[in-house]
Amino acid sequence: MKILHYFLFLALSFSVGYAQKTPVFKVVLDAGHGGKDPGKVVNKNIYEKDVVLKIALLVGKKLEAQPDIKVIYTRKTDVLIDLYERGAIANKNKADVFVSIHCNAHETQVEGAETYVLGLNANEQNFEVAKAENSVIYMEDNYKKKYAQYNINSPESLIGVSIMQEEFLEQSIQLAKIVQKQLTGVMNRTNRGVRQAGFIVLHQTYMPSILIETAFLTNNEERKFLTSAKGQEEFAENIAAAIISYKKWVQGKSSYVSPYDTSARSSRSRTPQHSTNHPSQSDLTYKVQISSSPKRLEAKGFNFKGLSPISAEKDGSIFVYYYGNAKRHKDALTLLSNAKKKGYTDAYITAFYQGRRITVERAKKLEK
Ligand SMILES: [Zn+2]
Repeated sequence: MKILHYFLFLALSFSVGYAQKTPVFKVVLDAGHGGKDPGKVVNKNIYEKDVVLKIALLVGKKLEAQPDIKVIYTRKTDVLIDLYERGAIANKNKADVFVSIHCNAHETQVEGAETYVLGLNANEQNFEVAKAENSVIYMEDNYKKKYAQYNINSPESLIGVSIMQEEFLEQSIQLAKIVQKQLTGVMNRTNRGVRQAGFIVLHQTYMPSILIETAFLTNNEERKFLTSAKGQEEFAENIAAAIISYKKWVQGKSSYVSPYDTSARSSRSRTPQHSTNHPSQSDLTYKVQISSSPKRLEAKGFNFKGLSPISAEKDGSIFVYYYGNAKRHKDALTLLSNAKKKGYTDAYITAFYQGRRITVERAKKLEK
């Protein structure tokens, strides 16, 4: 339904000369840490949680002044929000971007700004940064249960990129690049670059997501700047400017589909034009459609939260990914529940007869 409205809106816009207002762009601002988790602590009285909250609130104020931006905060006060909950807030609000704001720390006087996207292209240095930010889970209730899939102390057990984050990686990197450009090009701070690492908070979201390490609280100059009203204002100004220019970039892309326009994806994948990697040998097969992406991903379990087998199909310019291969509908139901348990909550059962997509109702009849 949503995509229909969108096309209707487009048609209207063209006929009345863009008189309609543009869709609202939702930004989730995530001030790291909070409450009993101070984040990095320097000189016993300077807490990362306070600095990043001030910056996040200022960023929000600037963005709220834009007519077509809606700001959602994961926290506006000094409270601890679970990493899971932060992502859930962004997902529930169907945000267009998720921006987590932090301060860095090191035992040396190293300085500079770095911005992270979730990714496997991590090195030891990035791992240490992610580990520090992830360690908050130990303060959460039931952390063992909630974060069983993560071993945050092992660089070998890298946190895999979720299929949704993989889908938005290009956009996340673009946003991260713009942030770095603002913080280093405009603010003239040391550029530590766009990096990848396994941040749990970025693993929870279903939209382009970044984590900004604004500066080092352990560097004497940077700490002074970070804790000053002027410094916080400048960081906020430039982070807000980066989000606004990212919004222009992403909305200017002709192929832009909101991260939450799942109706667009499923309607596009209803009539497959060309099949690849079809393991189906016999005539009738059920598969669980778990995802679709403009990018080709290797159809391997590590790209799909360990689900296997995965098959891919090209539908126009979109790659559609399926999990499993069942002969009977009742087995497909088991596959579906597996996929949902792994976080593919929008997954659904599809059916093929002689390699062609058919309705599930028709497949059930053929089964008998
Ligand atoms: Zn932090």
